[in-house]
Amino acid sequence: MLVVQKFGGTSVGNVERIKHVAALIAKSRQAGDAVVVVVSAMSGETDRLLKLAHELAPFPDEREMDMLLSTGERVTIALLAMALRAMGLDARSYTGRQVGIMTDSTHTRARIERITAERIKEALDQGIIPVVAGFQGINENNDVTTLGRGGSDLTAVALAAALHAEQCLIYTDVEGIFTADPNIVPSARKLEKVSYEEMLELASLGAKVLQSRSVEFAAKYEVPVIVKSTFKKGEGTLVTKEDRDMEQVMVSGVTGDRNQAKITFIGVPDHPGIASRIFGPIGSANILVDMIIQNVGQGDLTDLSFTIPRGDLHKAVDLANRIAKDIGARSVELKDKIAKVSLVGVGMRSHSGVAARMFETLAAKGINIMMISTSEIKISCVIEEQHLEPAIQALHQAFELG
Ligand code: ASP
Ligand code: MG
Repeated sequence: MLVVQKFGGTSVGNVERIKHVAALIAKSRQAGDAVVVVVSAMSGETDRLLKLAHELAPFPDEREMDMLLSTGERVTIALLAMALRAMGLDARSYTGRQVGIMTDSTHTRARIERITAERIKEALDQGIIPVVAGFQGINENNDVTTLGRGGSDLTAVALAAALHAEQCLIYTDVEGIFTADPNIVPSARKLEKVSYEEMLELASLGAKVLQSRSVEFAAKYEVPVIVKSTFKKGEGTLVTKEDRDMEQVMVSGVTGDRNQAKITFIGVPDHPGIASRIFGPIGSANILVDMIIQNVGQGDLTDLSFTIPRGDLHKAVDLANRIAKDIGARSVELKDKIAKVSLVGVGMRSHSGVAARMFETLAAKGINIMMISTSEIKISCVIEEQHLEPAIQALHQAFELG
């Protein structure tokens, strides 16, 4: 069968590891599989390049940034192809351009529009192992683009879809997707499979194993993705379409996200148009709002709170003050030491009482809930950051996830 195998930065972090990866690929070949390989830059390389750029300019030109960042993956494709060839395997390295990964022009987070993959098909026909640079493509002007941090996952999934590969294997430094972060909850269990939708929630909630956009892409084209360890034997976790077994389980996992800050407008006039005068400017400043709570008004005043990514707080301060003046709010309060704890599971669709048990569990630990949001397959609570780890541990235990 045809498989796409993607190896992350730590998996190709030094020469020894590159040899180890080459041996894994050789093994799949011996088992009779046709393999298309995608690699990331060596671990730390993309960060190193970013740092260099920021030493030269506070806001480096984005076209030049992509030219720079795309070099990381060029190094690893060449080295890995050399390692494979030294083992007597016929391998060839290709850049994003060479395999026809066409994107839009949104430098540093471009979207894939089309993939020709001609050279990959040619290589496969000749029994050659194509080793493709992840994270990069070209736009209609032939300029290099990159696909956003973690974008090699997207390259791998998109190639798997374009080539109709049977599987997309994401080799990484963890053994799969867990019921919670094993560093916080030692009894966390590896999941055999999760649905795309759950994985998307887990990815966006801070389980950084797969890039969110790659999961969206996999869901759209129904690419079976397997996350597994480069270093330890094991089945890994299959990310796939939702099925019956998945619905049996009430909660699949619990995650935490510290990248949160809260803004509260106090004493806001309670009449039509106010919300749009708050969120219009916030949206125009490209600040992503997550949860929003508006209290029941007292008299003709109300309070309104919302959460944003913590990194945007500095950007939001002046703006929030200006908005407060504009709408005649009494004051603005900004808070950064908050976090979000979430339960995720497609089983929530058919099981009731998850929220009640979550709140009970947090209450028993004396943890105050500041905000709550729910969707069909997720419940999130905003709490003080210092309570995040105890909350994750308590919820993991209460829902018997270990
Ligand atoms: N090298 C890029 C990054 O560090 C892409 C990737 O590793 O997936 O974000
Ligand atoms: Mg990654």
